[in-house]
Amino acid sequence: MNTRTSGKTIAIIGGGAAGMMAAARLAEGIKSLQEKNSTQEIKIVLFDKNDHLGAKVIISGGGRCNVTTGIADIKKLLENYPRGAKFLRTAMHNFSPSKVMEWFESHSVPLKTEEDLRVFPQSDNGKDIVGALEKALAPITKLHLRTNVTNISKRTGFIIQTKKETITADYLLIATGGSAYRQTGSTGDGYAFAQALGHTITGLAPSLSSFITKEPYPKDLAGVSFTQTEITLASNTSPTETKHFTRKGPLVFTHRGVSGPAIFALSGMAAYETFSPEKPHQLSINFVPKLSHTELLNKLQEQANLHGKKEFKNFLDIFLPKSLCEVITHILIKQKKLTSEDMHAGQMNAELKKETAKLIQAFPLTITGRSPGEEFVTAGGVPLTEVDPNTMESKICPNLYFAGEVLDIDGFTGGFNLQASWASGYLAGESILSQV
Ligand SMILES: Cc1cc2nc3c(=O)[nH]c(=O)nc-3n(C[C@H](O)[C@H](O)[C@H](O)COP(=O)(O)OP(=O)(O)OC[C@H]3O[C@@H](n4cnc5c(N)ncnc54)[C@H](O)[C@@H]3O)c2cc1C
Repeated sequence: MNTRTSGKTIAIIGGGAAGMMAAARLAEGIKSLQEKNSTQEIKIVLFDKNDHLGAKVIISGGGRCNVTTGIADIKKLLENYPRGAKFLRTAMHNFSPSKVMEWFESHSVPLKTEEDLRVFPQSDNGKDIVGALEKALAPITKLHLRTNVTNISKRTGFIIQTKKETITADYLLIATGGSAYRQTGSTGDGYAFAQALGHTITGLAPSLSSFITKEPYPKDLAGVSFTQTEITLASNTSPTETKHFTRKGPLVFTHRGVSGPAIFALSGMAAYETFSPEKPHQLSINFVPKLSHTELLNKLQEQANLHGKKEFKNFLDIFLPKSLCEVITHILIKQKKLTSEDMHAGQMNAELKKETAKLIQAFPLTITGRSPGEEFVTAGGVPLTEVDPNTMESKICPNLYFAGEVLDIDGFTGGFNLQASWASGYLAGESILSQV
């Protein structure tokens, strides 16, 4: 069956963060046009292969949905996007984190900003975020749920094919997301749709993933976390060149390696690097980044003078969690810098002090891989040179728009990816509205 509707039809593929926000913006705009007695009939059709909207939004932030960030300064905000910062400038000014917060609060979702500036619904329930969007888009939007769009082409309008029907639309927004967490429906279909309409696609890579280490000791430290570390990843890009990626932030040991916001950010910065047991990368962790190296050496000596009778591994717990002190003690024994676990702090010589400080401020780990299939976002997508940042319209195919993770945009953890989806979806909705 081929359904051609009278008036203008706007089709949105993808009922995730970007698609829902675009539909909500359009629905509210169309409603106000209708109230002004506009005779134009405008329809929105939204397709999603799931049986409900916002599958990924609901599971985001561990179900709590880190909806945006409390960073108000747009320049600072954009520092959190390894790819897409410049492109997002207009969209972020147009629908900034403060405006996103205002939007949800005025749609009956009270929010809270945590100490680290992550913003969540007060209910800690991502379903409330999706519920507000559903309510806003509902009056005008015809939902096609459990509907997998299989093919897109363009003649005078866009021809959208599903298993059941073919729909023609005047405007098309591709908001199909990336290809991370494929079980949520985001399987990268939008890349093929964009290509069918004349676009290219950049290389794709996992971003925001945990790291797997060669060393076994993270297993003994699993669950041990740090609120502030400084980590550096040295990537041997060629036999003669080494790239260094550095980031400050929280870190947690896992059974297989390391994770947490600082690791996620570093994995995003190094998204296009290859990690394997054959091509490992060296990670260095500074557990006390607030102390200079000399300050740490002095503190170690000061503590050794004060607690000279304490066993070496116990005296280190002034600086570090007990389990990490034990690991460091074992490494020092293996390196033959420490003769035994029972050695007393007061017996520490200059070399042992230096090596201990090195392990506290440059703890070495060999990264052999990323946790497979567990990345939060996809780096890469529709190249930003092919899309107008002021409207989100394709520069290649008129009346085609993109929003969200399908674009070559990705941010760090902390609400930045949803913020990019809200802002680009809102701008796409607004731009289409100004065209119809
Ligand atoms: C576990 C996890 C936790 C996260 N937590 C956070 C967080 O707390 N804060 C944050 O900022 N970011 C978070 N992110 C990232 C963020 O959720 C995504 O970047 C964001 O949801 C992307 O939005 P989107 O609308 O572009 O795509 P998506 O939300 O992925 O939506 C795309 C939609 O398109 C549909 N679709 C795809 N292809 C088709 C097709 N052929 N036919 C029909 N429908 C189709 C899919 O079913 C899907 O519903 C998290 C990601 C994951 C995986």
